[in-house]
Formats: sequence, structure tokens, C-alpha cells
Amino acid sequence: MTVHPGCPFCEGPGGRVVFEGAKVRVIHAEEVGFPAFYRVIWREHAPEFSDLDAADRVLCMEAVTVVEQCLREQLKPTKINLAALGNMVPHLHWHVIARFEWDSHFPSPFWAAAQRAAPVDRVADVQALLPKLEAEMVRRLALLQD
Ligand SMILES: [Zn+2]
Repeated sequence: MTVHPGCPFCEGPGGRVVFEGAKVRVIHAEEVGFPAFYRVIWREHAPEFSDLDAADRVLCMEAVTVVEQCLREQLKPTKINLAALGNMVPHLHWHVIARFEWDSHFPSPFWAAAQRAAPVDRVADVQALLPKLEAEMVRRLALLQD
């Protein structure tokens, strides 16, 4: 796997590693106030989604789907936000963010200005569910890799 010097997703995991497959890595982003913010990172350095071949695009989006499904099933969020920007880090990654009407930015995007402080108790309630959620996520992601 070619490492691009200076690329944080080539040189490091980019967050707390939840799953490391042959082609995709899923990390917990550890963003303050967003307890269920994950990133699906393509392990090979690829700036754009269309750099992947058709089979890899399917695998990548299936991984995004698994993460989204686990968040929906176990957290019942108000909304899921999916985004692939890559302006700051041009190494293909999808943000998968569980959004709640109580979160600090809702209904604005994560990248906009905060509108309020996130309530500590609500954040803690979500954090408490993550071990079970992530165990299920890993189980399903492993099935994709076969
Ligand atoms: Zn990279």
C-alpha cells in the first residue's frame, strides 16, 4: 500500500480504530459533542471516489451502509449525515454522523458554527451504547470482506 507523505490517513489511523479490513478502515472520530461520529476510510490512498473500480465502490458503500444501519438501529438518531468532502484530507473517506436534535449544531452541518452546547447527559447516554453498537458493526463489516 502506497503511503503518501503528509497524508494523515496514510500515516495514521485517523481516529480510534473500530474495524480494520483489507480495504476499508472504520474509525470513531472522537469529535467533542458528537458521540456517534464515524469515518469509513479507504485504506489505499485515493483522492476521489471514482478512483475506485466498480467492485471497490460497491464495497466502500456497503461499508458506509453497515455503519449507517448500526447507528440507526441502536441509537435511533434524528438523522444520519453522510459526507465525503476531502478538502482538508484528500484521501477518500466517508463521514457517517448520527445527528440528534439536541446536538450542538442541529440542524446545521457538523462543519457549521455551533448553536448550543451539547447536553452532557445525552452525550453520555449515546456513549454508553457504543460498545454494543461497535461489536455489531464489526461483525457485519467482517462479512463484507469475504
Ligand atoms: Zn492518504
